[in-house]
Amino acid sequence: MRHRRSTIQGLARKVSVAVLVLLGVVEVALGQSAAQRDPAEPAQEKPQAKTLPHPAARIARTSVNEKSMRALIAKLVACGTRLTLSSWTDPKRGIGCARDAIVARLNEIAQDSGGKLQVAVDKFESTSQRTSEKPIALENVYAILPGSDPKLAKTIFIVSGHYDSRPSNVMDAQADAPGADDDASGTAVSVECARLLSKASAKGGGTYRATILFAAVSGEEQGLLGSTHLLEWTKQQGYTVGGMLDDDIVGADPAAGAPHRVRLFSGNGEIDDADSPSRELARAVEEIDGSAAIRMIFRIDRYGRGGDHYPFYKAGLPAVRFTEPLEDYNHQHQTPRTENGIEYGDFEKYLNFTFMGEVARDNAEALRQLAMAPAPPTSVKLTGAVTPNAKVSWAAEEDAERAGFEILWRETAEPRWHIYDSVTVPGETVLKGVSTDNHFFAVRAVGKNGARSIAVPTEIERRPPPLPAVTKQ
Ligand SMILES: [Zn+2]
Repeated sequence: MRHRRSTIQGLARKVSVAVLVLLGVVEVALGQSAAQRDPAEPAQEKPQAKTLPHPAARIARTSVNEKSMRALIAKLVACGTRLTLSSWTDPKRGIGCARDAIVARLNEIAQDSGGKLQVAVDKFESTSQRTSEKPIALENVYAILPGSDPKLAKTIFIVSGHYDSRPSNVMDAQADAPGADDDASGTAVSVECARLLSKASAKGGGTYRATILFAAVSGEEQGLLGSTHLLEWTKQQGYTVGGMLDDDIVGADPAAGAPHRVRLFSGNGEIDDADSPSRELARAVEEIDGSAAIRMIFRIDRYGRGGDHYPFYKAGLPAVRFTEPLEDYNHQHQTPRTENGIEYGDFEKYLNFTFMGEVARDNAEALRQLAMAPAPPTSVKLTGAVTPNAKVSWAAEEDAERAGFEILWRETAEPRWHIYDSVTVPGETVLKGVSTDNHFFAVRAVGKNGARSIAVPTEIERRPPPLPAVTKQ
């Protein structure tokens, strides 16, 4: 009897699990919870969007060279300090020693790129409170992989880490500042991306239509001076910034269960009812690398802190920040010392190269797919308010490599886009039976190779509320 009852209970459990699984499938298919009771939109069947798979030949995790990342970080740490105010000319100690190590490594990589990768040192001056308001000399290091498409080569995708470091006192050029995590790790990620992508390109495995810039900037700790200059440099060179990936503190992952997801910070922007280009870049990176690899965080940066993506973000450009899952503040911005049994300092021994290798792969794959994509659409608009149909319109230049466009939508409270429909030509598309009010909308371009541009949210038709009638006197 008892046996029988437990069998029935077991069966009931199995059935309920099956029902739950079934509900789960239905839920995914509808993109909404079965518990919701809203009118169907559109009332009839949704369009069957034709979607292309993302580009093949993904960068394999096994192709990341953790050894060379470790070697570069060890060389940077061996410079003693990399404070921007330290020596630029001493080959053994100071930030100039670090610049030499990065240039040497990038030159090695360039040699293997079949002459495609170009290495350059960009010298400039800058002033801030943290230079005692005096102009100081700084240098950024760039490796440039020019795009293959005559038009899109003027669009640049950037990955950047800062190679300067700091001790507890940001003005102290003498104290040791190993900066293994902050930010030799981001520098190593940027340099490894240069190797992965230039190698793939030389082998014919990737045709990057847009230009990719692998940057190691200085002056971050003195007030984002290097990245502010980098933004100016892109303008002087006539580039449009397609996206900027800032890797800062991406080296450690000490919690149990590592490697964990890397955090990806993106700011909201300042437009009502529409996300910033930075948020759209974050979504694109998550879609490319997967939500098992990327933890999107919808804020500009960690609370009360800043980084090199900020000048780009403030300029309205797509810029995001990668940072490790949980930071240990004893290992950041600290002059090495032991106090009350606690060791302070940003040392190589705290780094996790398995995690860092993941970050390098995720950056490289995101850059690869973004640089293969057509230009994002322009003048993306939503009209049709106070009518039964939403109308989405956009413009785009001719592009023989483009397959078409995807119209995206999402619940206003939802973090990710869904594909509503696919269309081959720019212009206006009427979404029959779809309200303008209940969703957000965006459009992105899709290449014949399956690479997607970042999404461009619709601008809102701005109509002021009706004013009270003025009575004539
Ligand atoms: Zn940093």
